[in-house]
Amino acid sequence: MLEVAIIATMKALYPIVFLISFAPFALADGLPELGDYSATVMSPLDEQRIADEIMRDVYASSQVLEDPEINDYIDDLGHRLAANSPDKYQRFNFFVVKDNSINAFAMPGGVIGVHTGLLLAAKNESEVAGVLGHEIGHVVQRHLARMLARQKNDSVISMATMALALLAARSNPQLTGGALTAATANSIQKQIDYTREHEREADRVGLQILENAGFDTRAMPSFFETLQKGSRFSEGSAPAFLRTHPLTVERIADVRNRVEQGSFRVIQESAEFHFVKAKLLANIGTADSAINIFRINLQENNFSNEAAQHYGIALAMLRKNDLDGAREQVNWLRKNTVPNAMIETVATRIAVAGKDPAVAEQQYLEALGTYPEHRALIYGYAEHLLNSRQVDKLLQLIADKQSQFPDDPYFYELKARAYSTQGKSLLMHHAQGEAYARRYNLRGALEQMDLATKAQDGDFYEKSIVEARRNQLRQQLDDKRRD
Ligand SMILES: [Zn+2]
Repeated sequence: MLEVAIIATMKALYPIVFLISFAPFALADGLPELGDYSATVMSPLDEQRIADEIMRDVYASSQVLEDPEINDYIDDLGHRLAANSPDKYQRFNFFVVKDNSINAFAMPGGVIGVHTGLLLAAKNESEVAGVLGHEIGHVVQRHLARMLARQKNDSVISMATMALALLAARSNPQLTGGALTAATANSIQKQIDYTREHEREADRVGLQILENAGFDTRAMPSFFETLQKGSRFSEGSAPAFLRTHPLTVERIADVRNRVEQGSFRVIQESAEFHFVKAKLLANIGTADSAINIFRINLQENNFSNEAAQHYGIALAMLRKNDLDGAREQVNWLRKNTVPNAMIETVATRIAVAGKDPAVAEQQYLEALGTYPEHRALIYGYAEHLLNSRQVDKLLQLIADKQSQFPDDPYFYELKARAYSTQGKSLLMHHAQGEAYARRYNLRGALEQMDLATKAQDGDFYEKSIVEARRNQLRQQLDDKRRD
């Protein structure tokens, strides 16, 4: 009990939560072989092309959460786990779907989606890591890729269509842009589904990843049990995760056995998970109802991370434009918890809402001085500069930061907007084209490059860059059509 009390005190004081965990030395026993390419028709290149098709739909979907802090959190967590997977060469894309059902899914080519509902249902970071590890397991064992290849579709496009139909069946029809009927999706879902063997393989790979990456392996069986208990109370409304990843008593027992063969060790958990969860909660229902929930949590000492409750109140206060109330919470956070980029980002948003550009400017410069690579801060500052018509400063900011985020489409969109206000047509279309290319929309990118070459402005140097890029994109599109 002493241990529990110490942990409770530490939780209140520090954003890093220490948990005692087992280190399962026996995990590696009986690990399956990595998914073998010879057993499939699908090459790694085909898989990558399917992943690009899926990502294009993902980017175009209004169901995908566009919050740089939550996305970066999931992306960092996902890549930390993927770096410990048995397949070091597999590429991964992680994103968050605005859907409060409890689910996560993996697509060929390492595309992994996590529902907001799963983040809200998880008690700690290791529980989310357990589910991500399981999904990474499906990817590196090439379960879906092998099943899709077995459907004897020889073209990458038709396999991508199948994968998207599956995505619709498994998660959310809106994600696929309505290209497929629910009936088609369901019939495909019936043809292709994870088997019990696949589930067991994904669990074992997932556990190994959790262990290697230094997470609490016990979180995996305990989260599975939570999900199963939840489904027992309301039959028919089982968490979507259980429908797509059939969970049997034997499966949980197998995972639990492997975990408990290990020894104790200390686990570190970040505060960020709790901040991300509070950010999601602060946007559910009305601002007042959200504030109420956080306040009750504080009164009843019902929290894993006290600072996250104050952070949630600050966000909900900002939502209803109670700037003094939000500032009060930020002051509490600055005094009582370890500095964190998410706190300073709220401070900048409060300053912007205060409508004094000079105060906002100062706040952004201070925050970016401490957290120069926090994307939410860079985005926020860029938008502030755009809204206050400081276009040259905005372009300078992007020039300074862009090399660290070369694949980020939003930097190019901001640039396009800046050039648009300056009336620079060639540069605007060029930037917009680069944004589309990074959203995997090659056709849209090519259209913009065409417009850029036809623009009346631009010097010789700019024109030749645009022409070369247009030819390159044309080539890429032709290659795709040949599949
Ligand atoms: Zn599964």
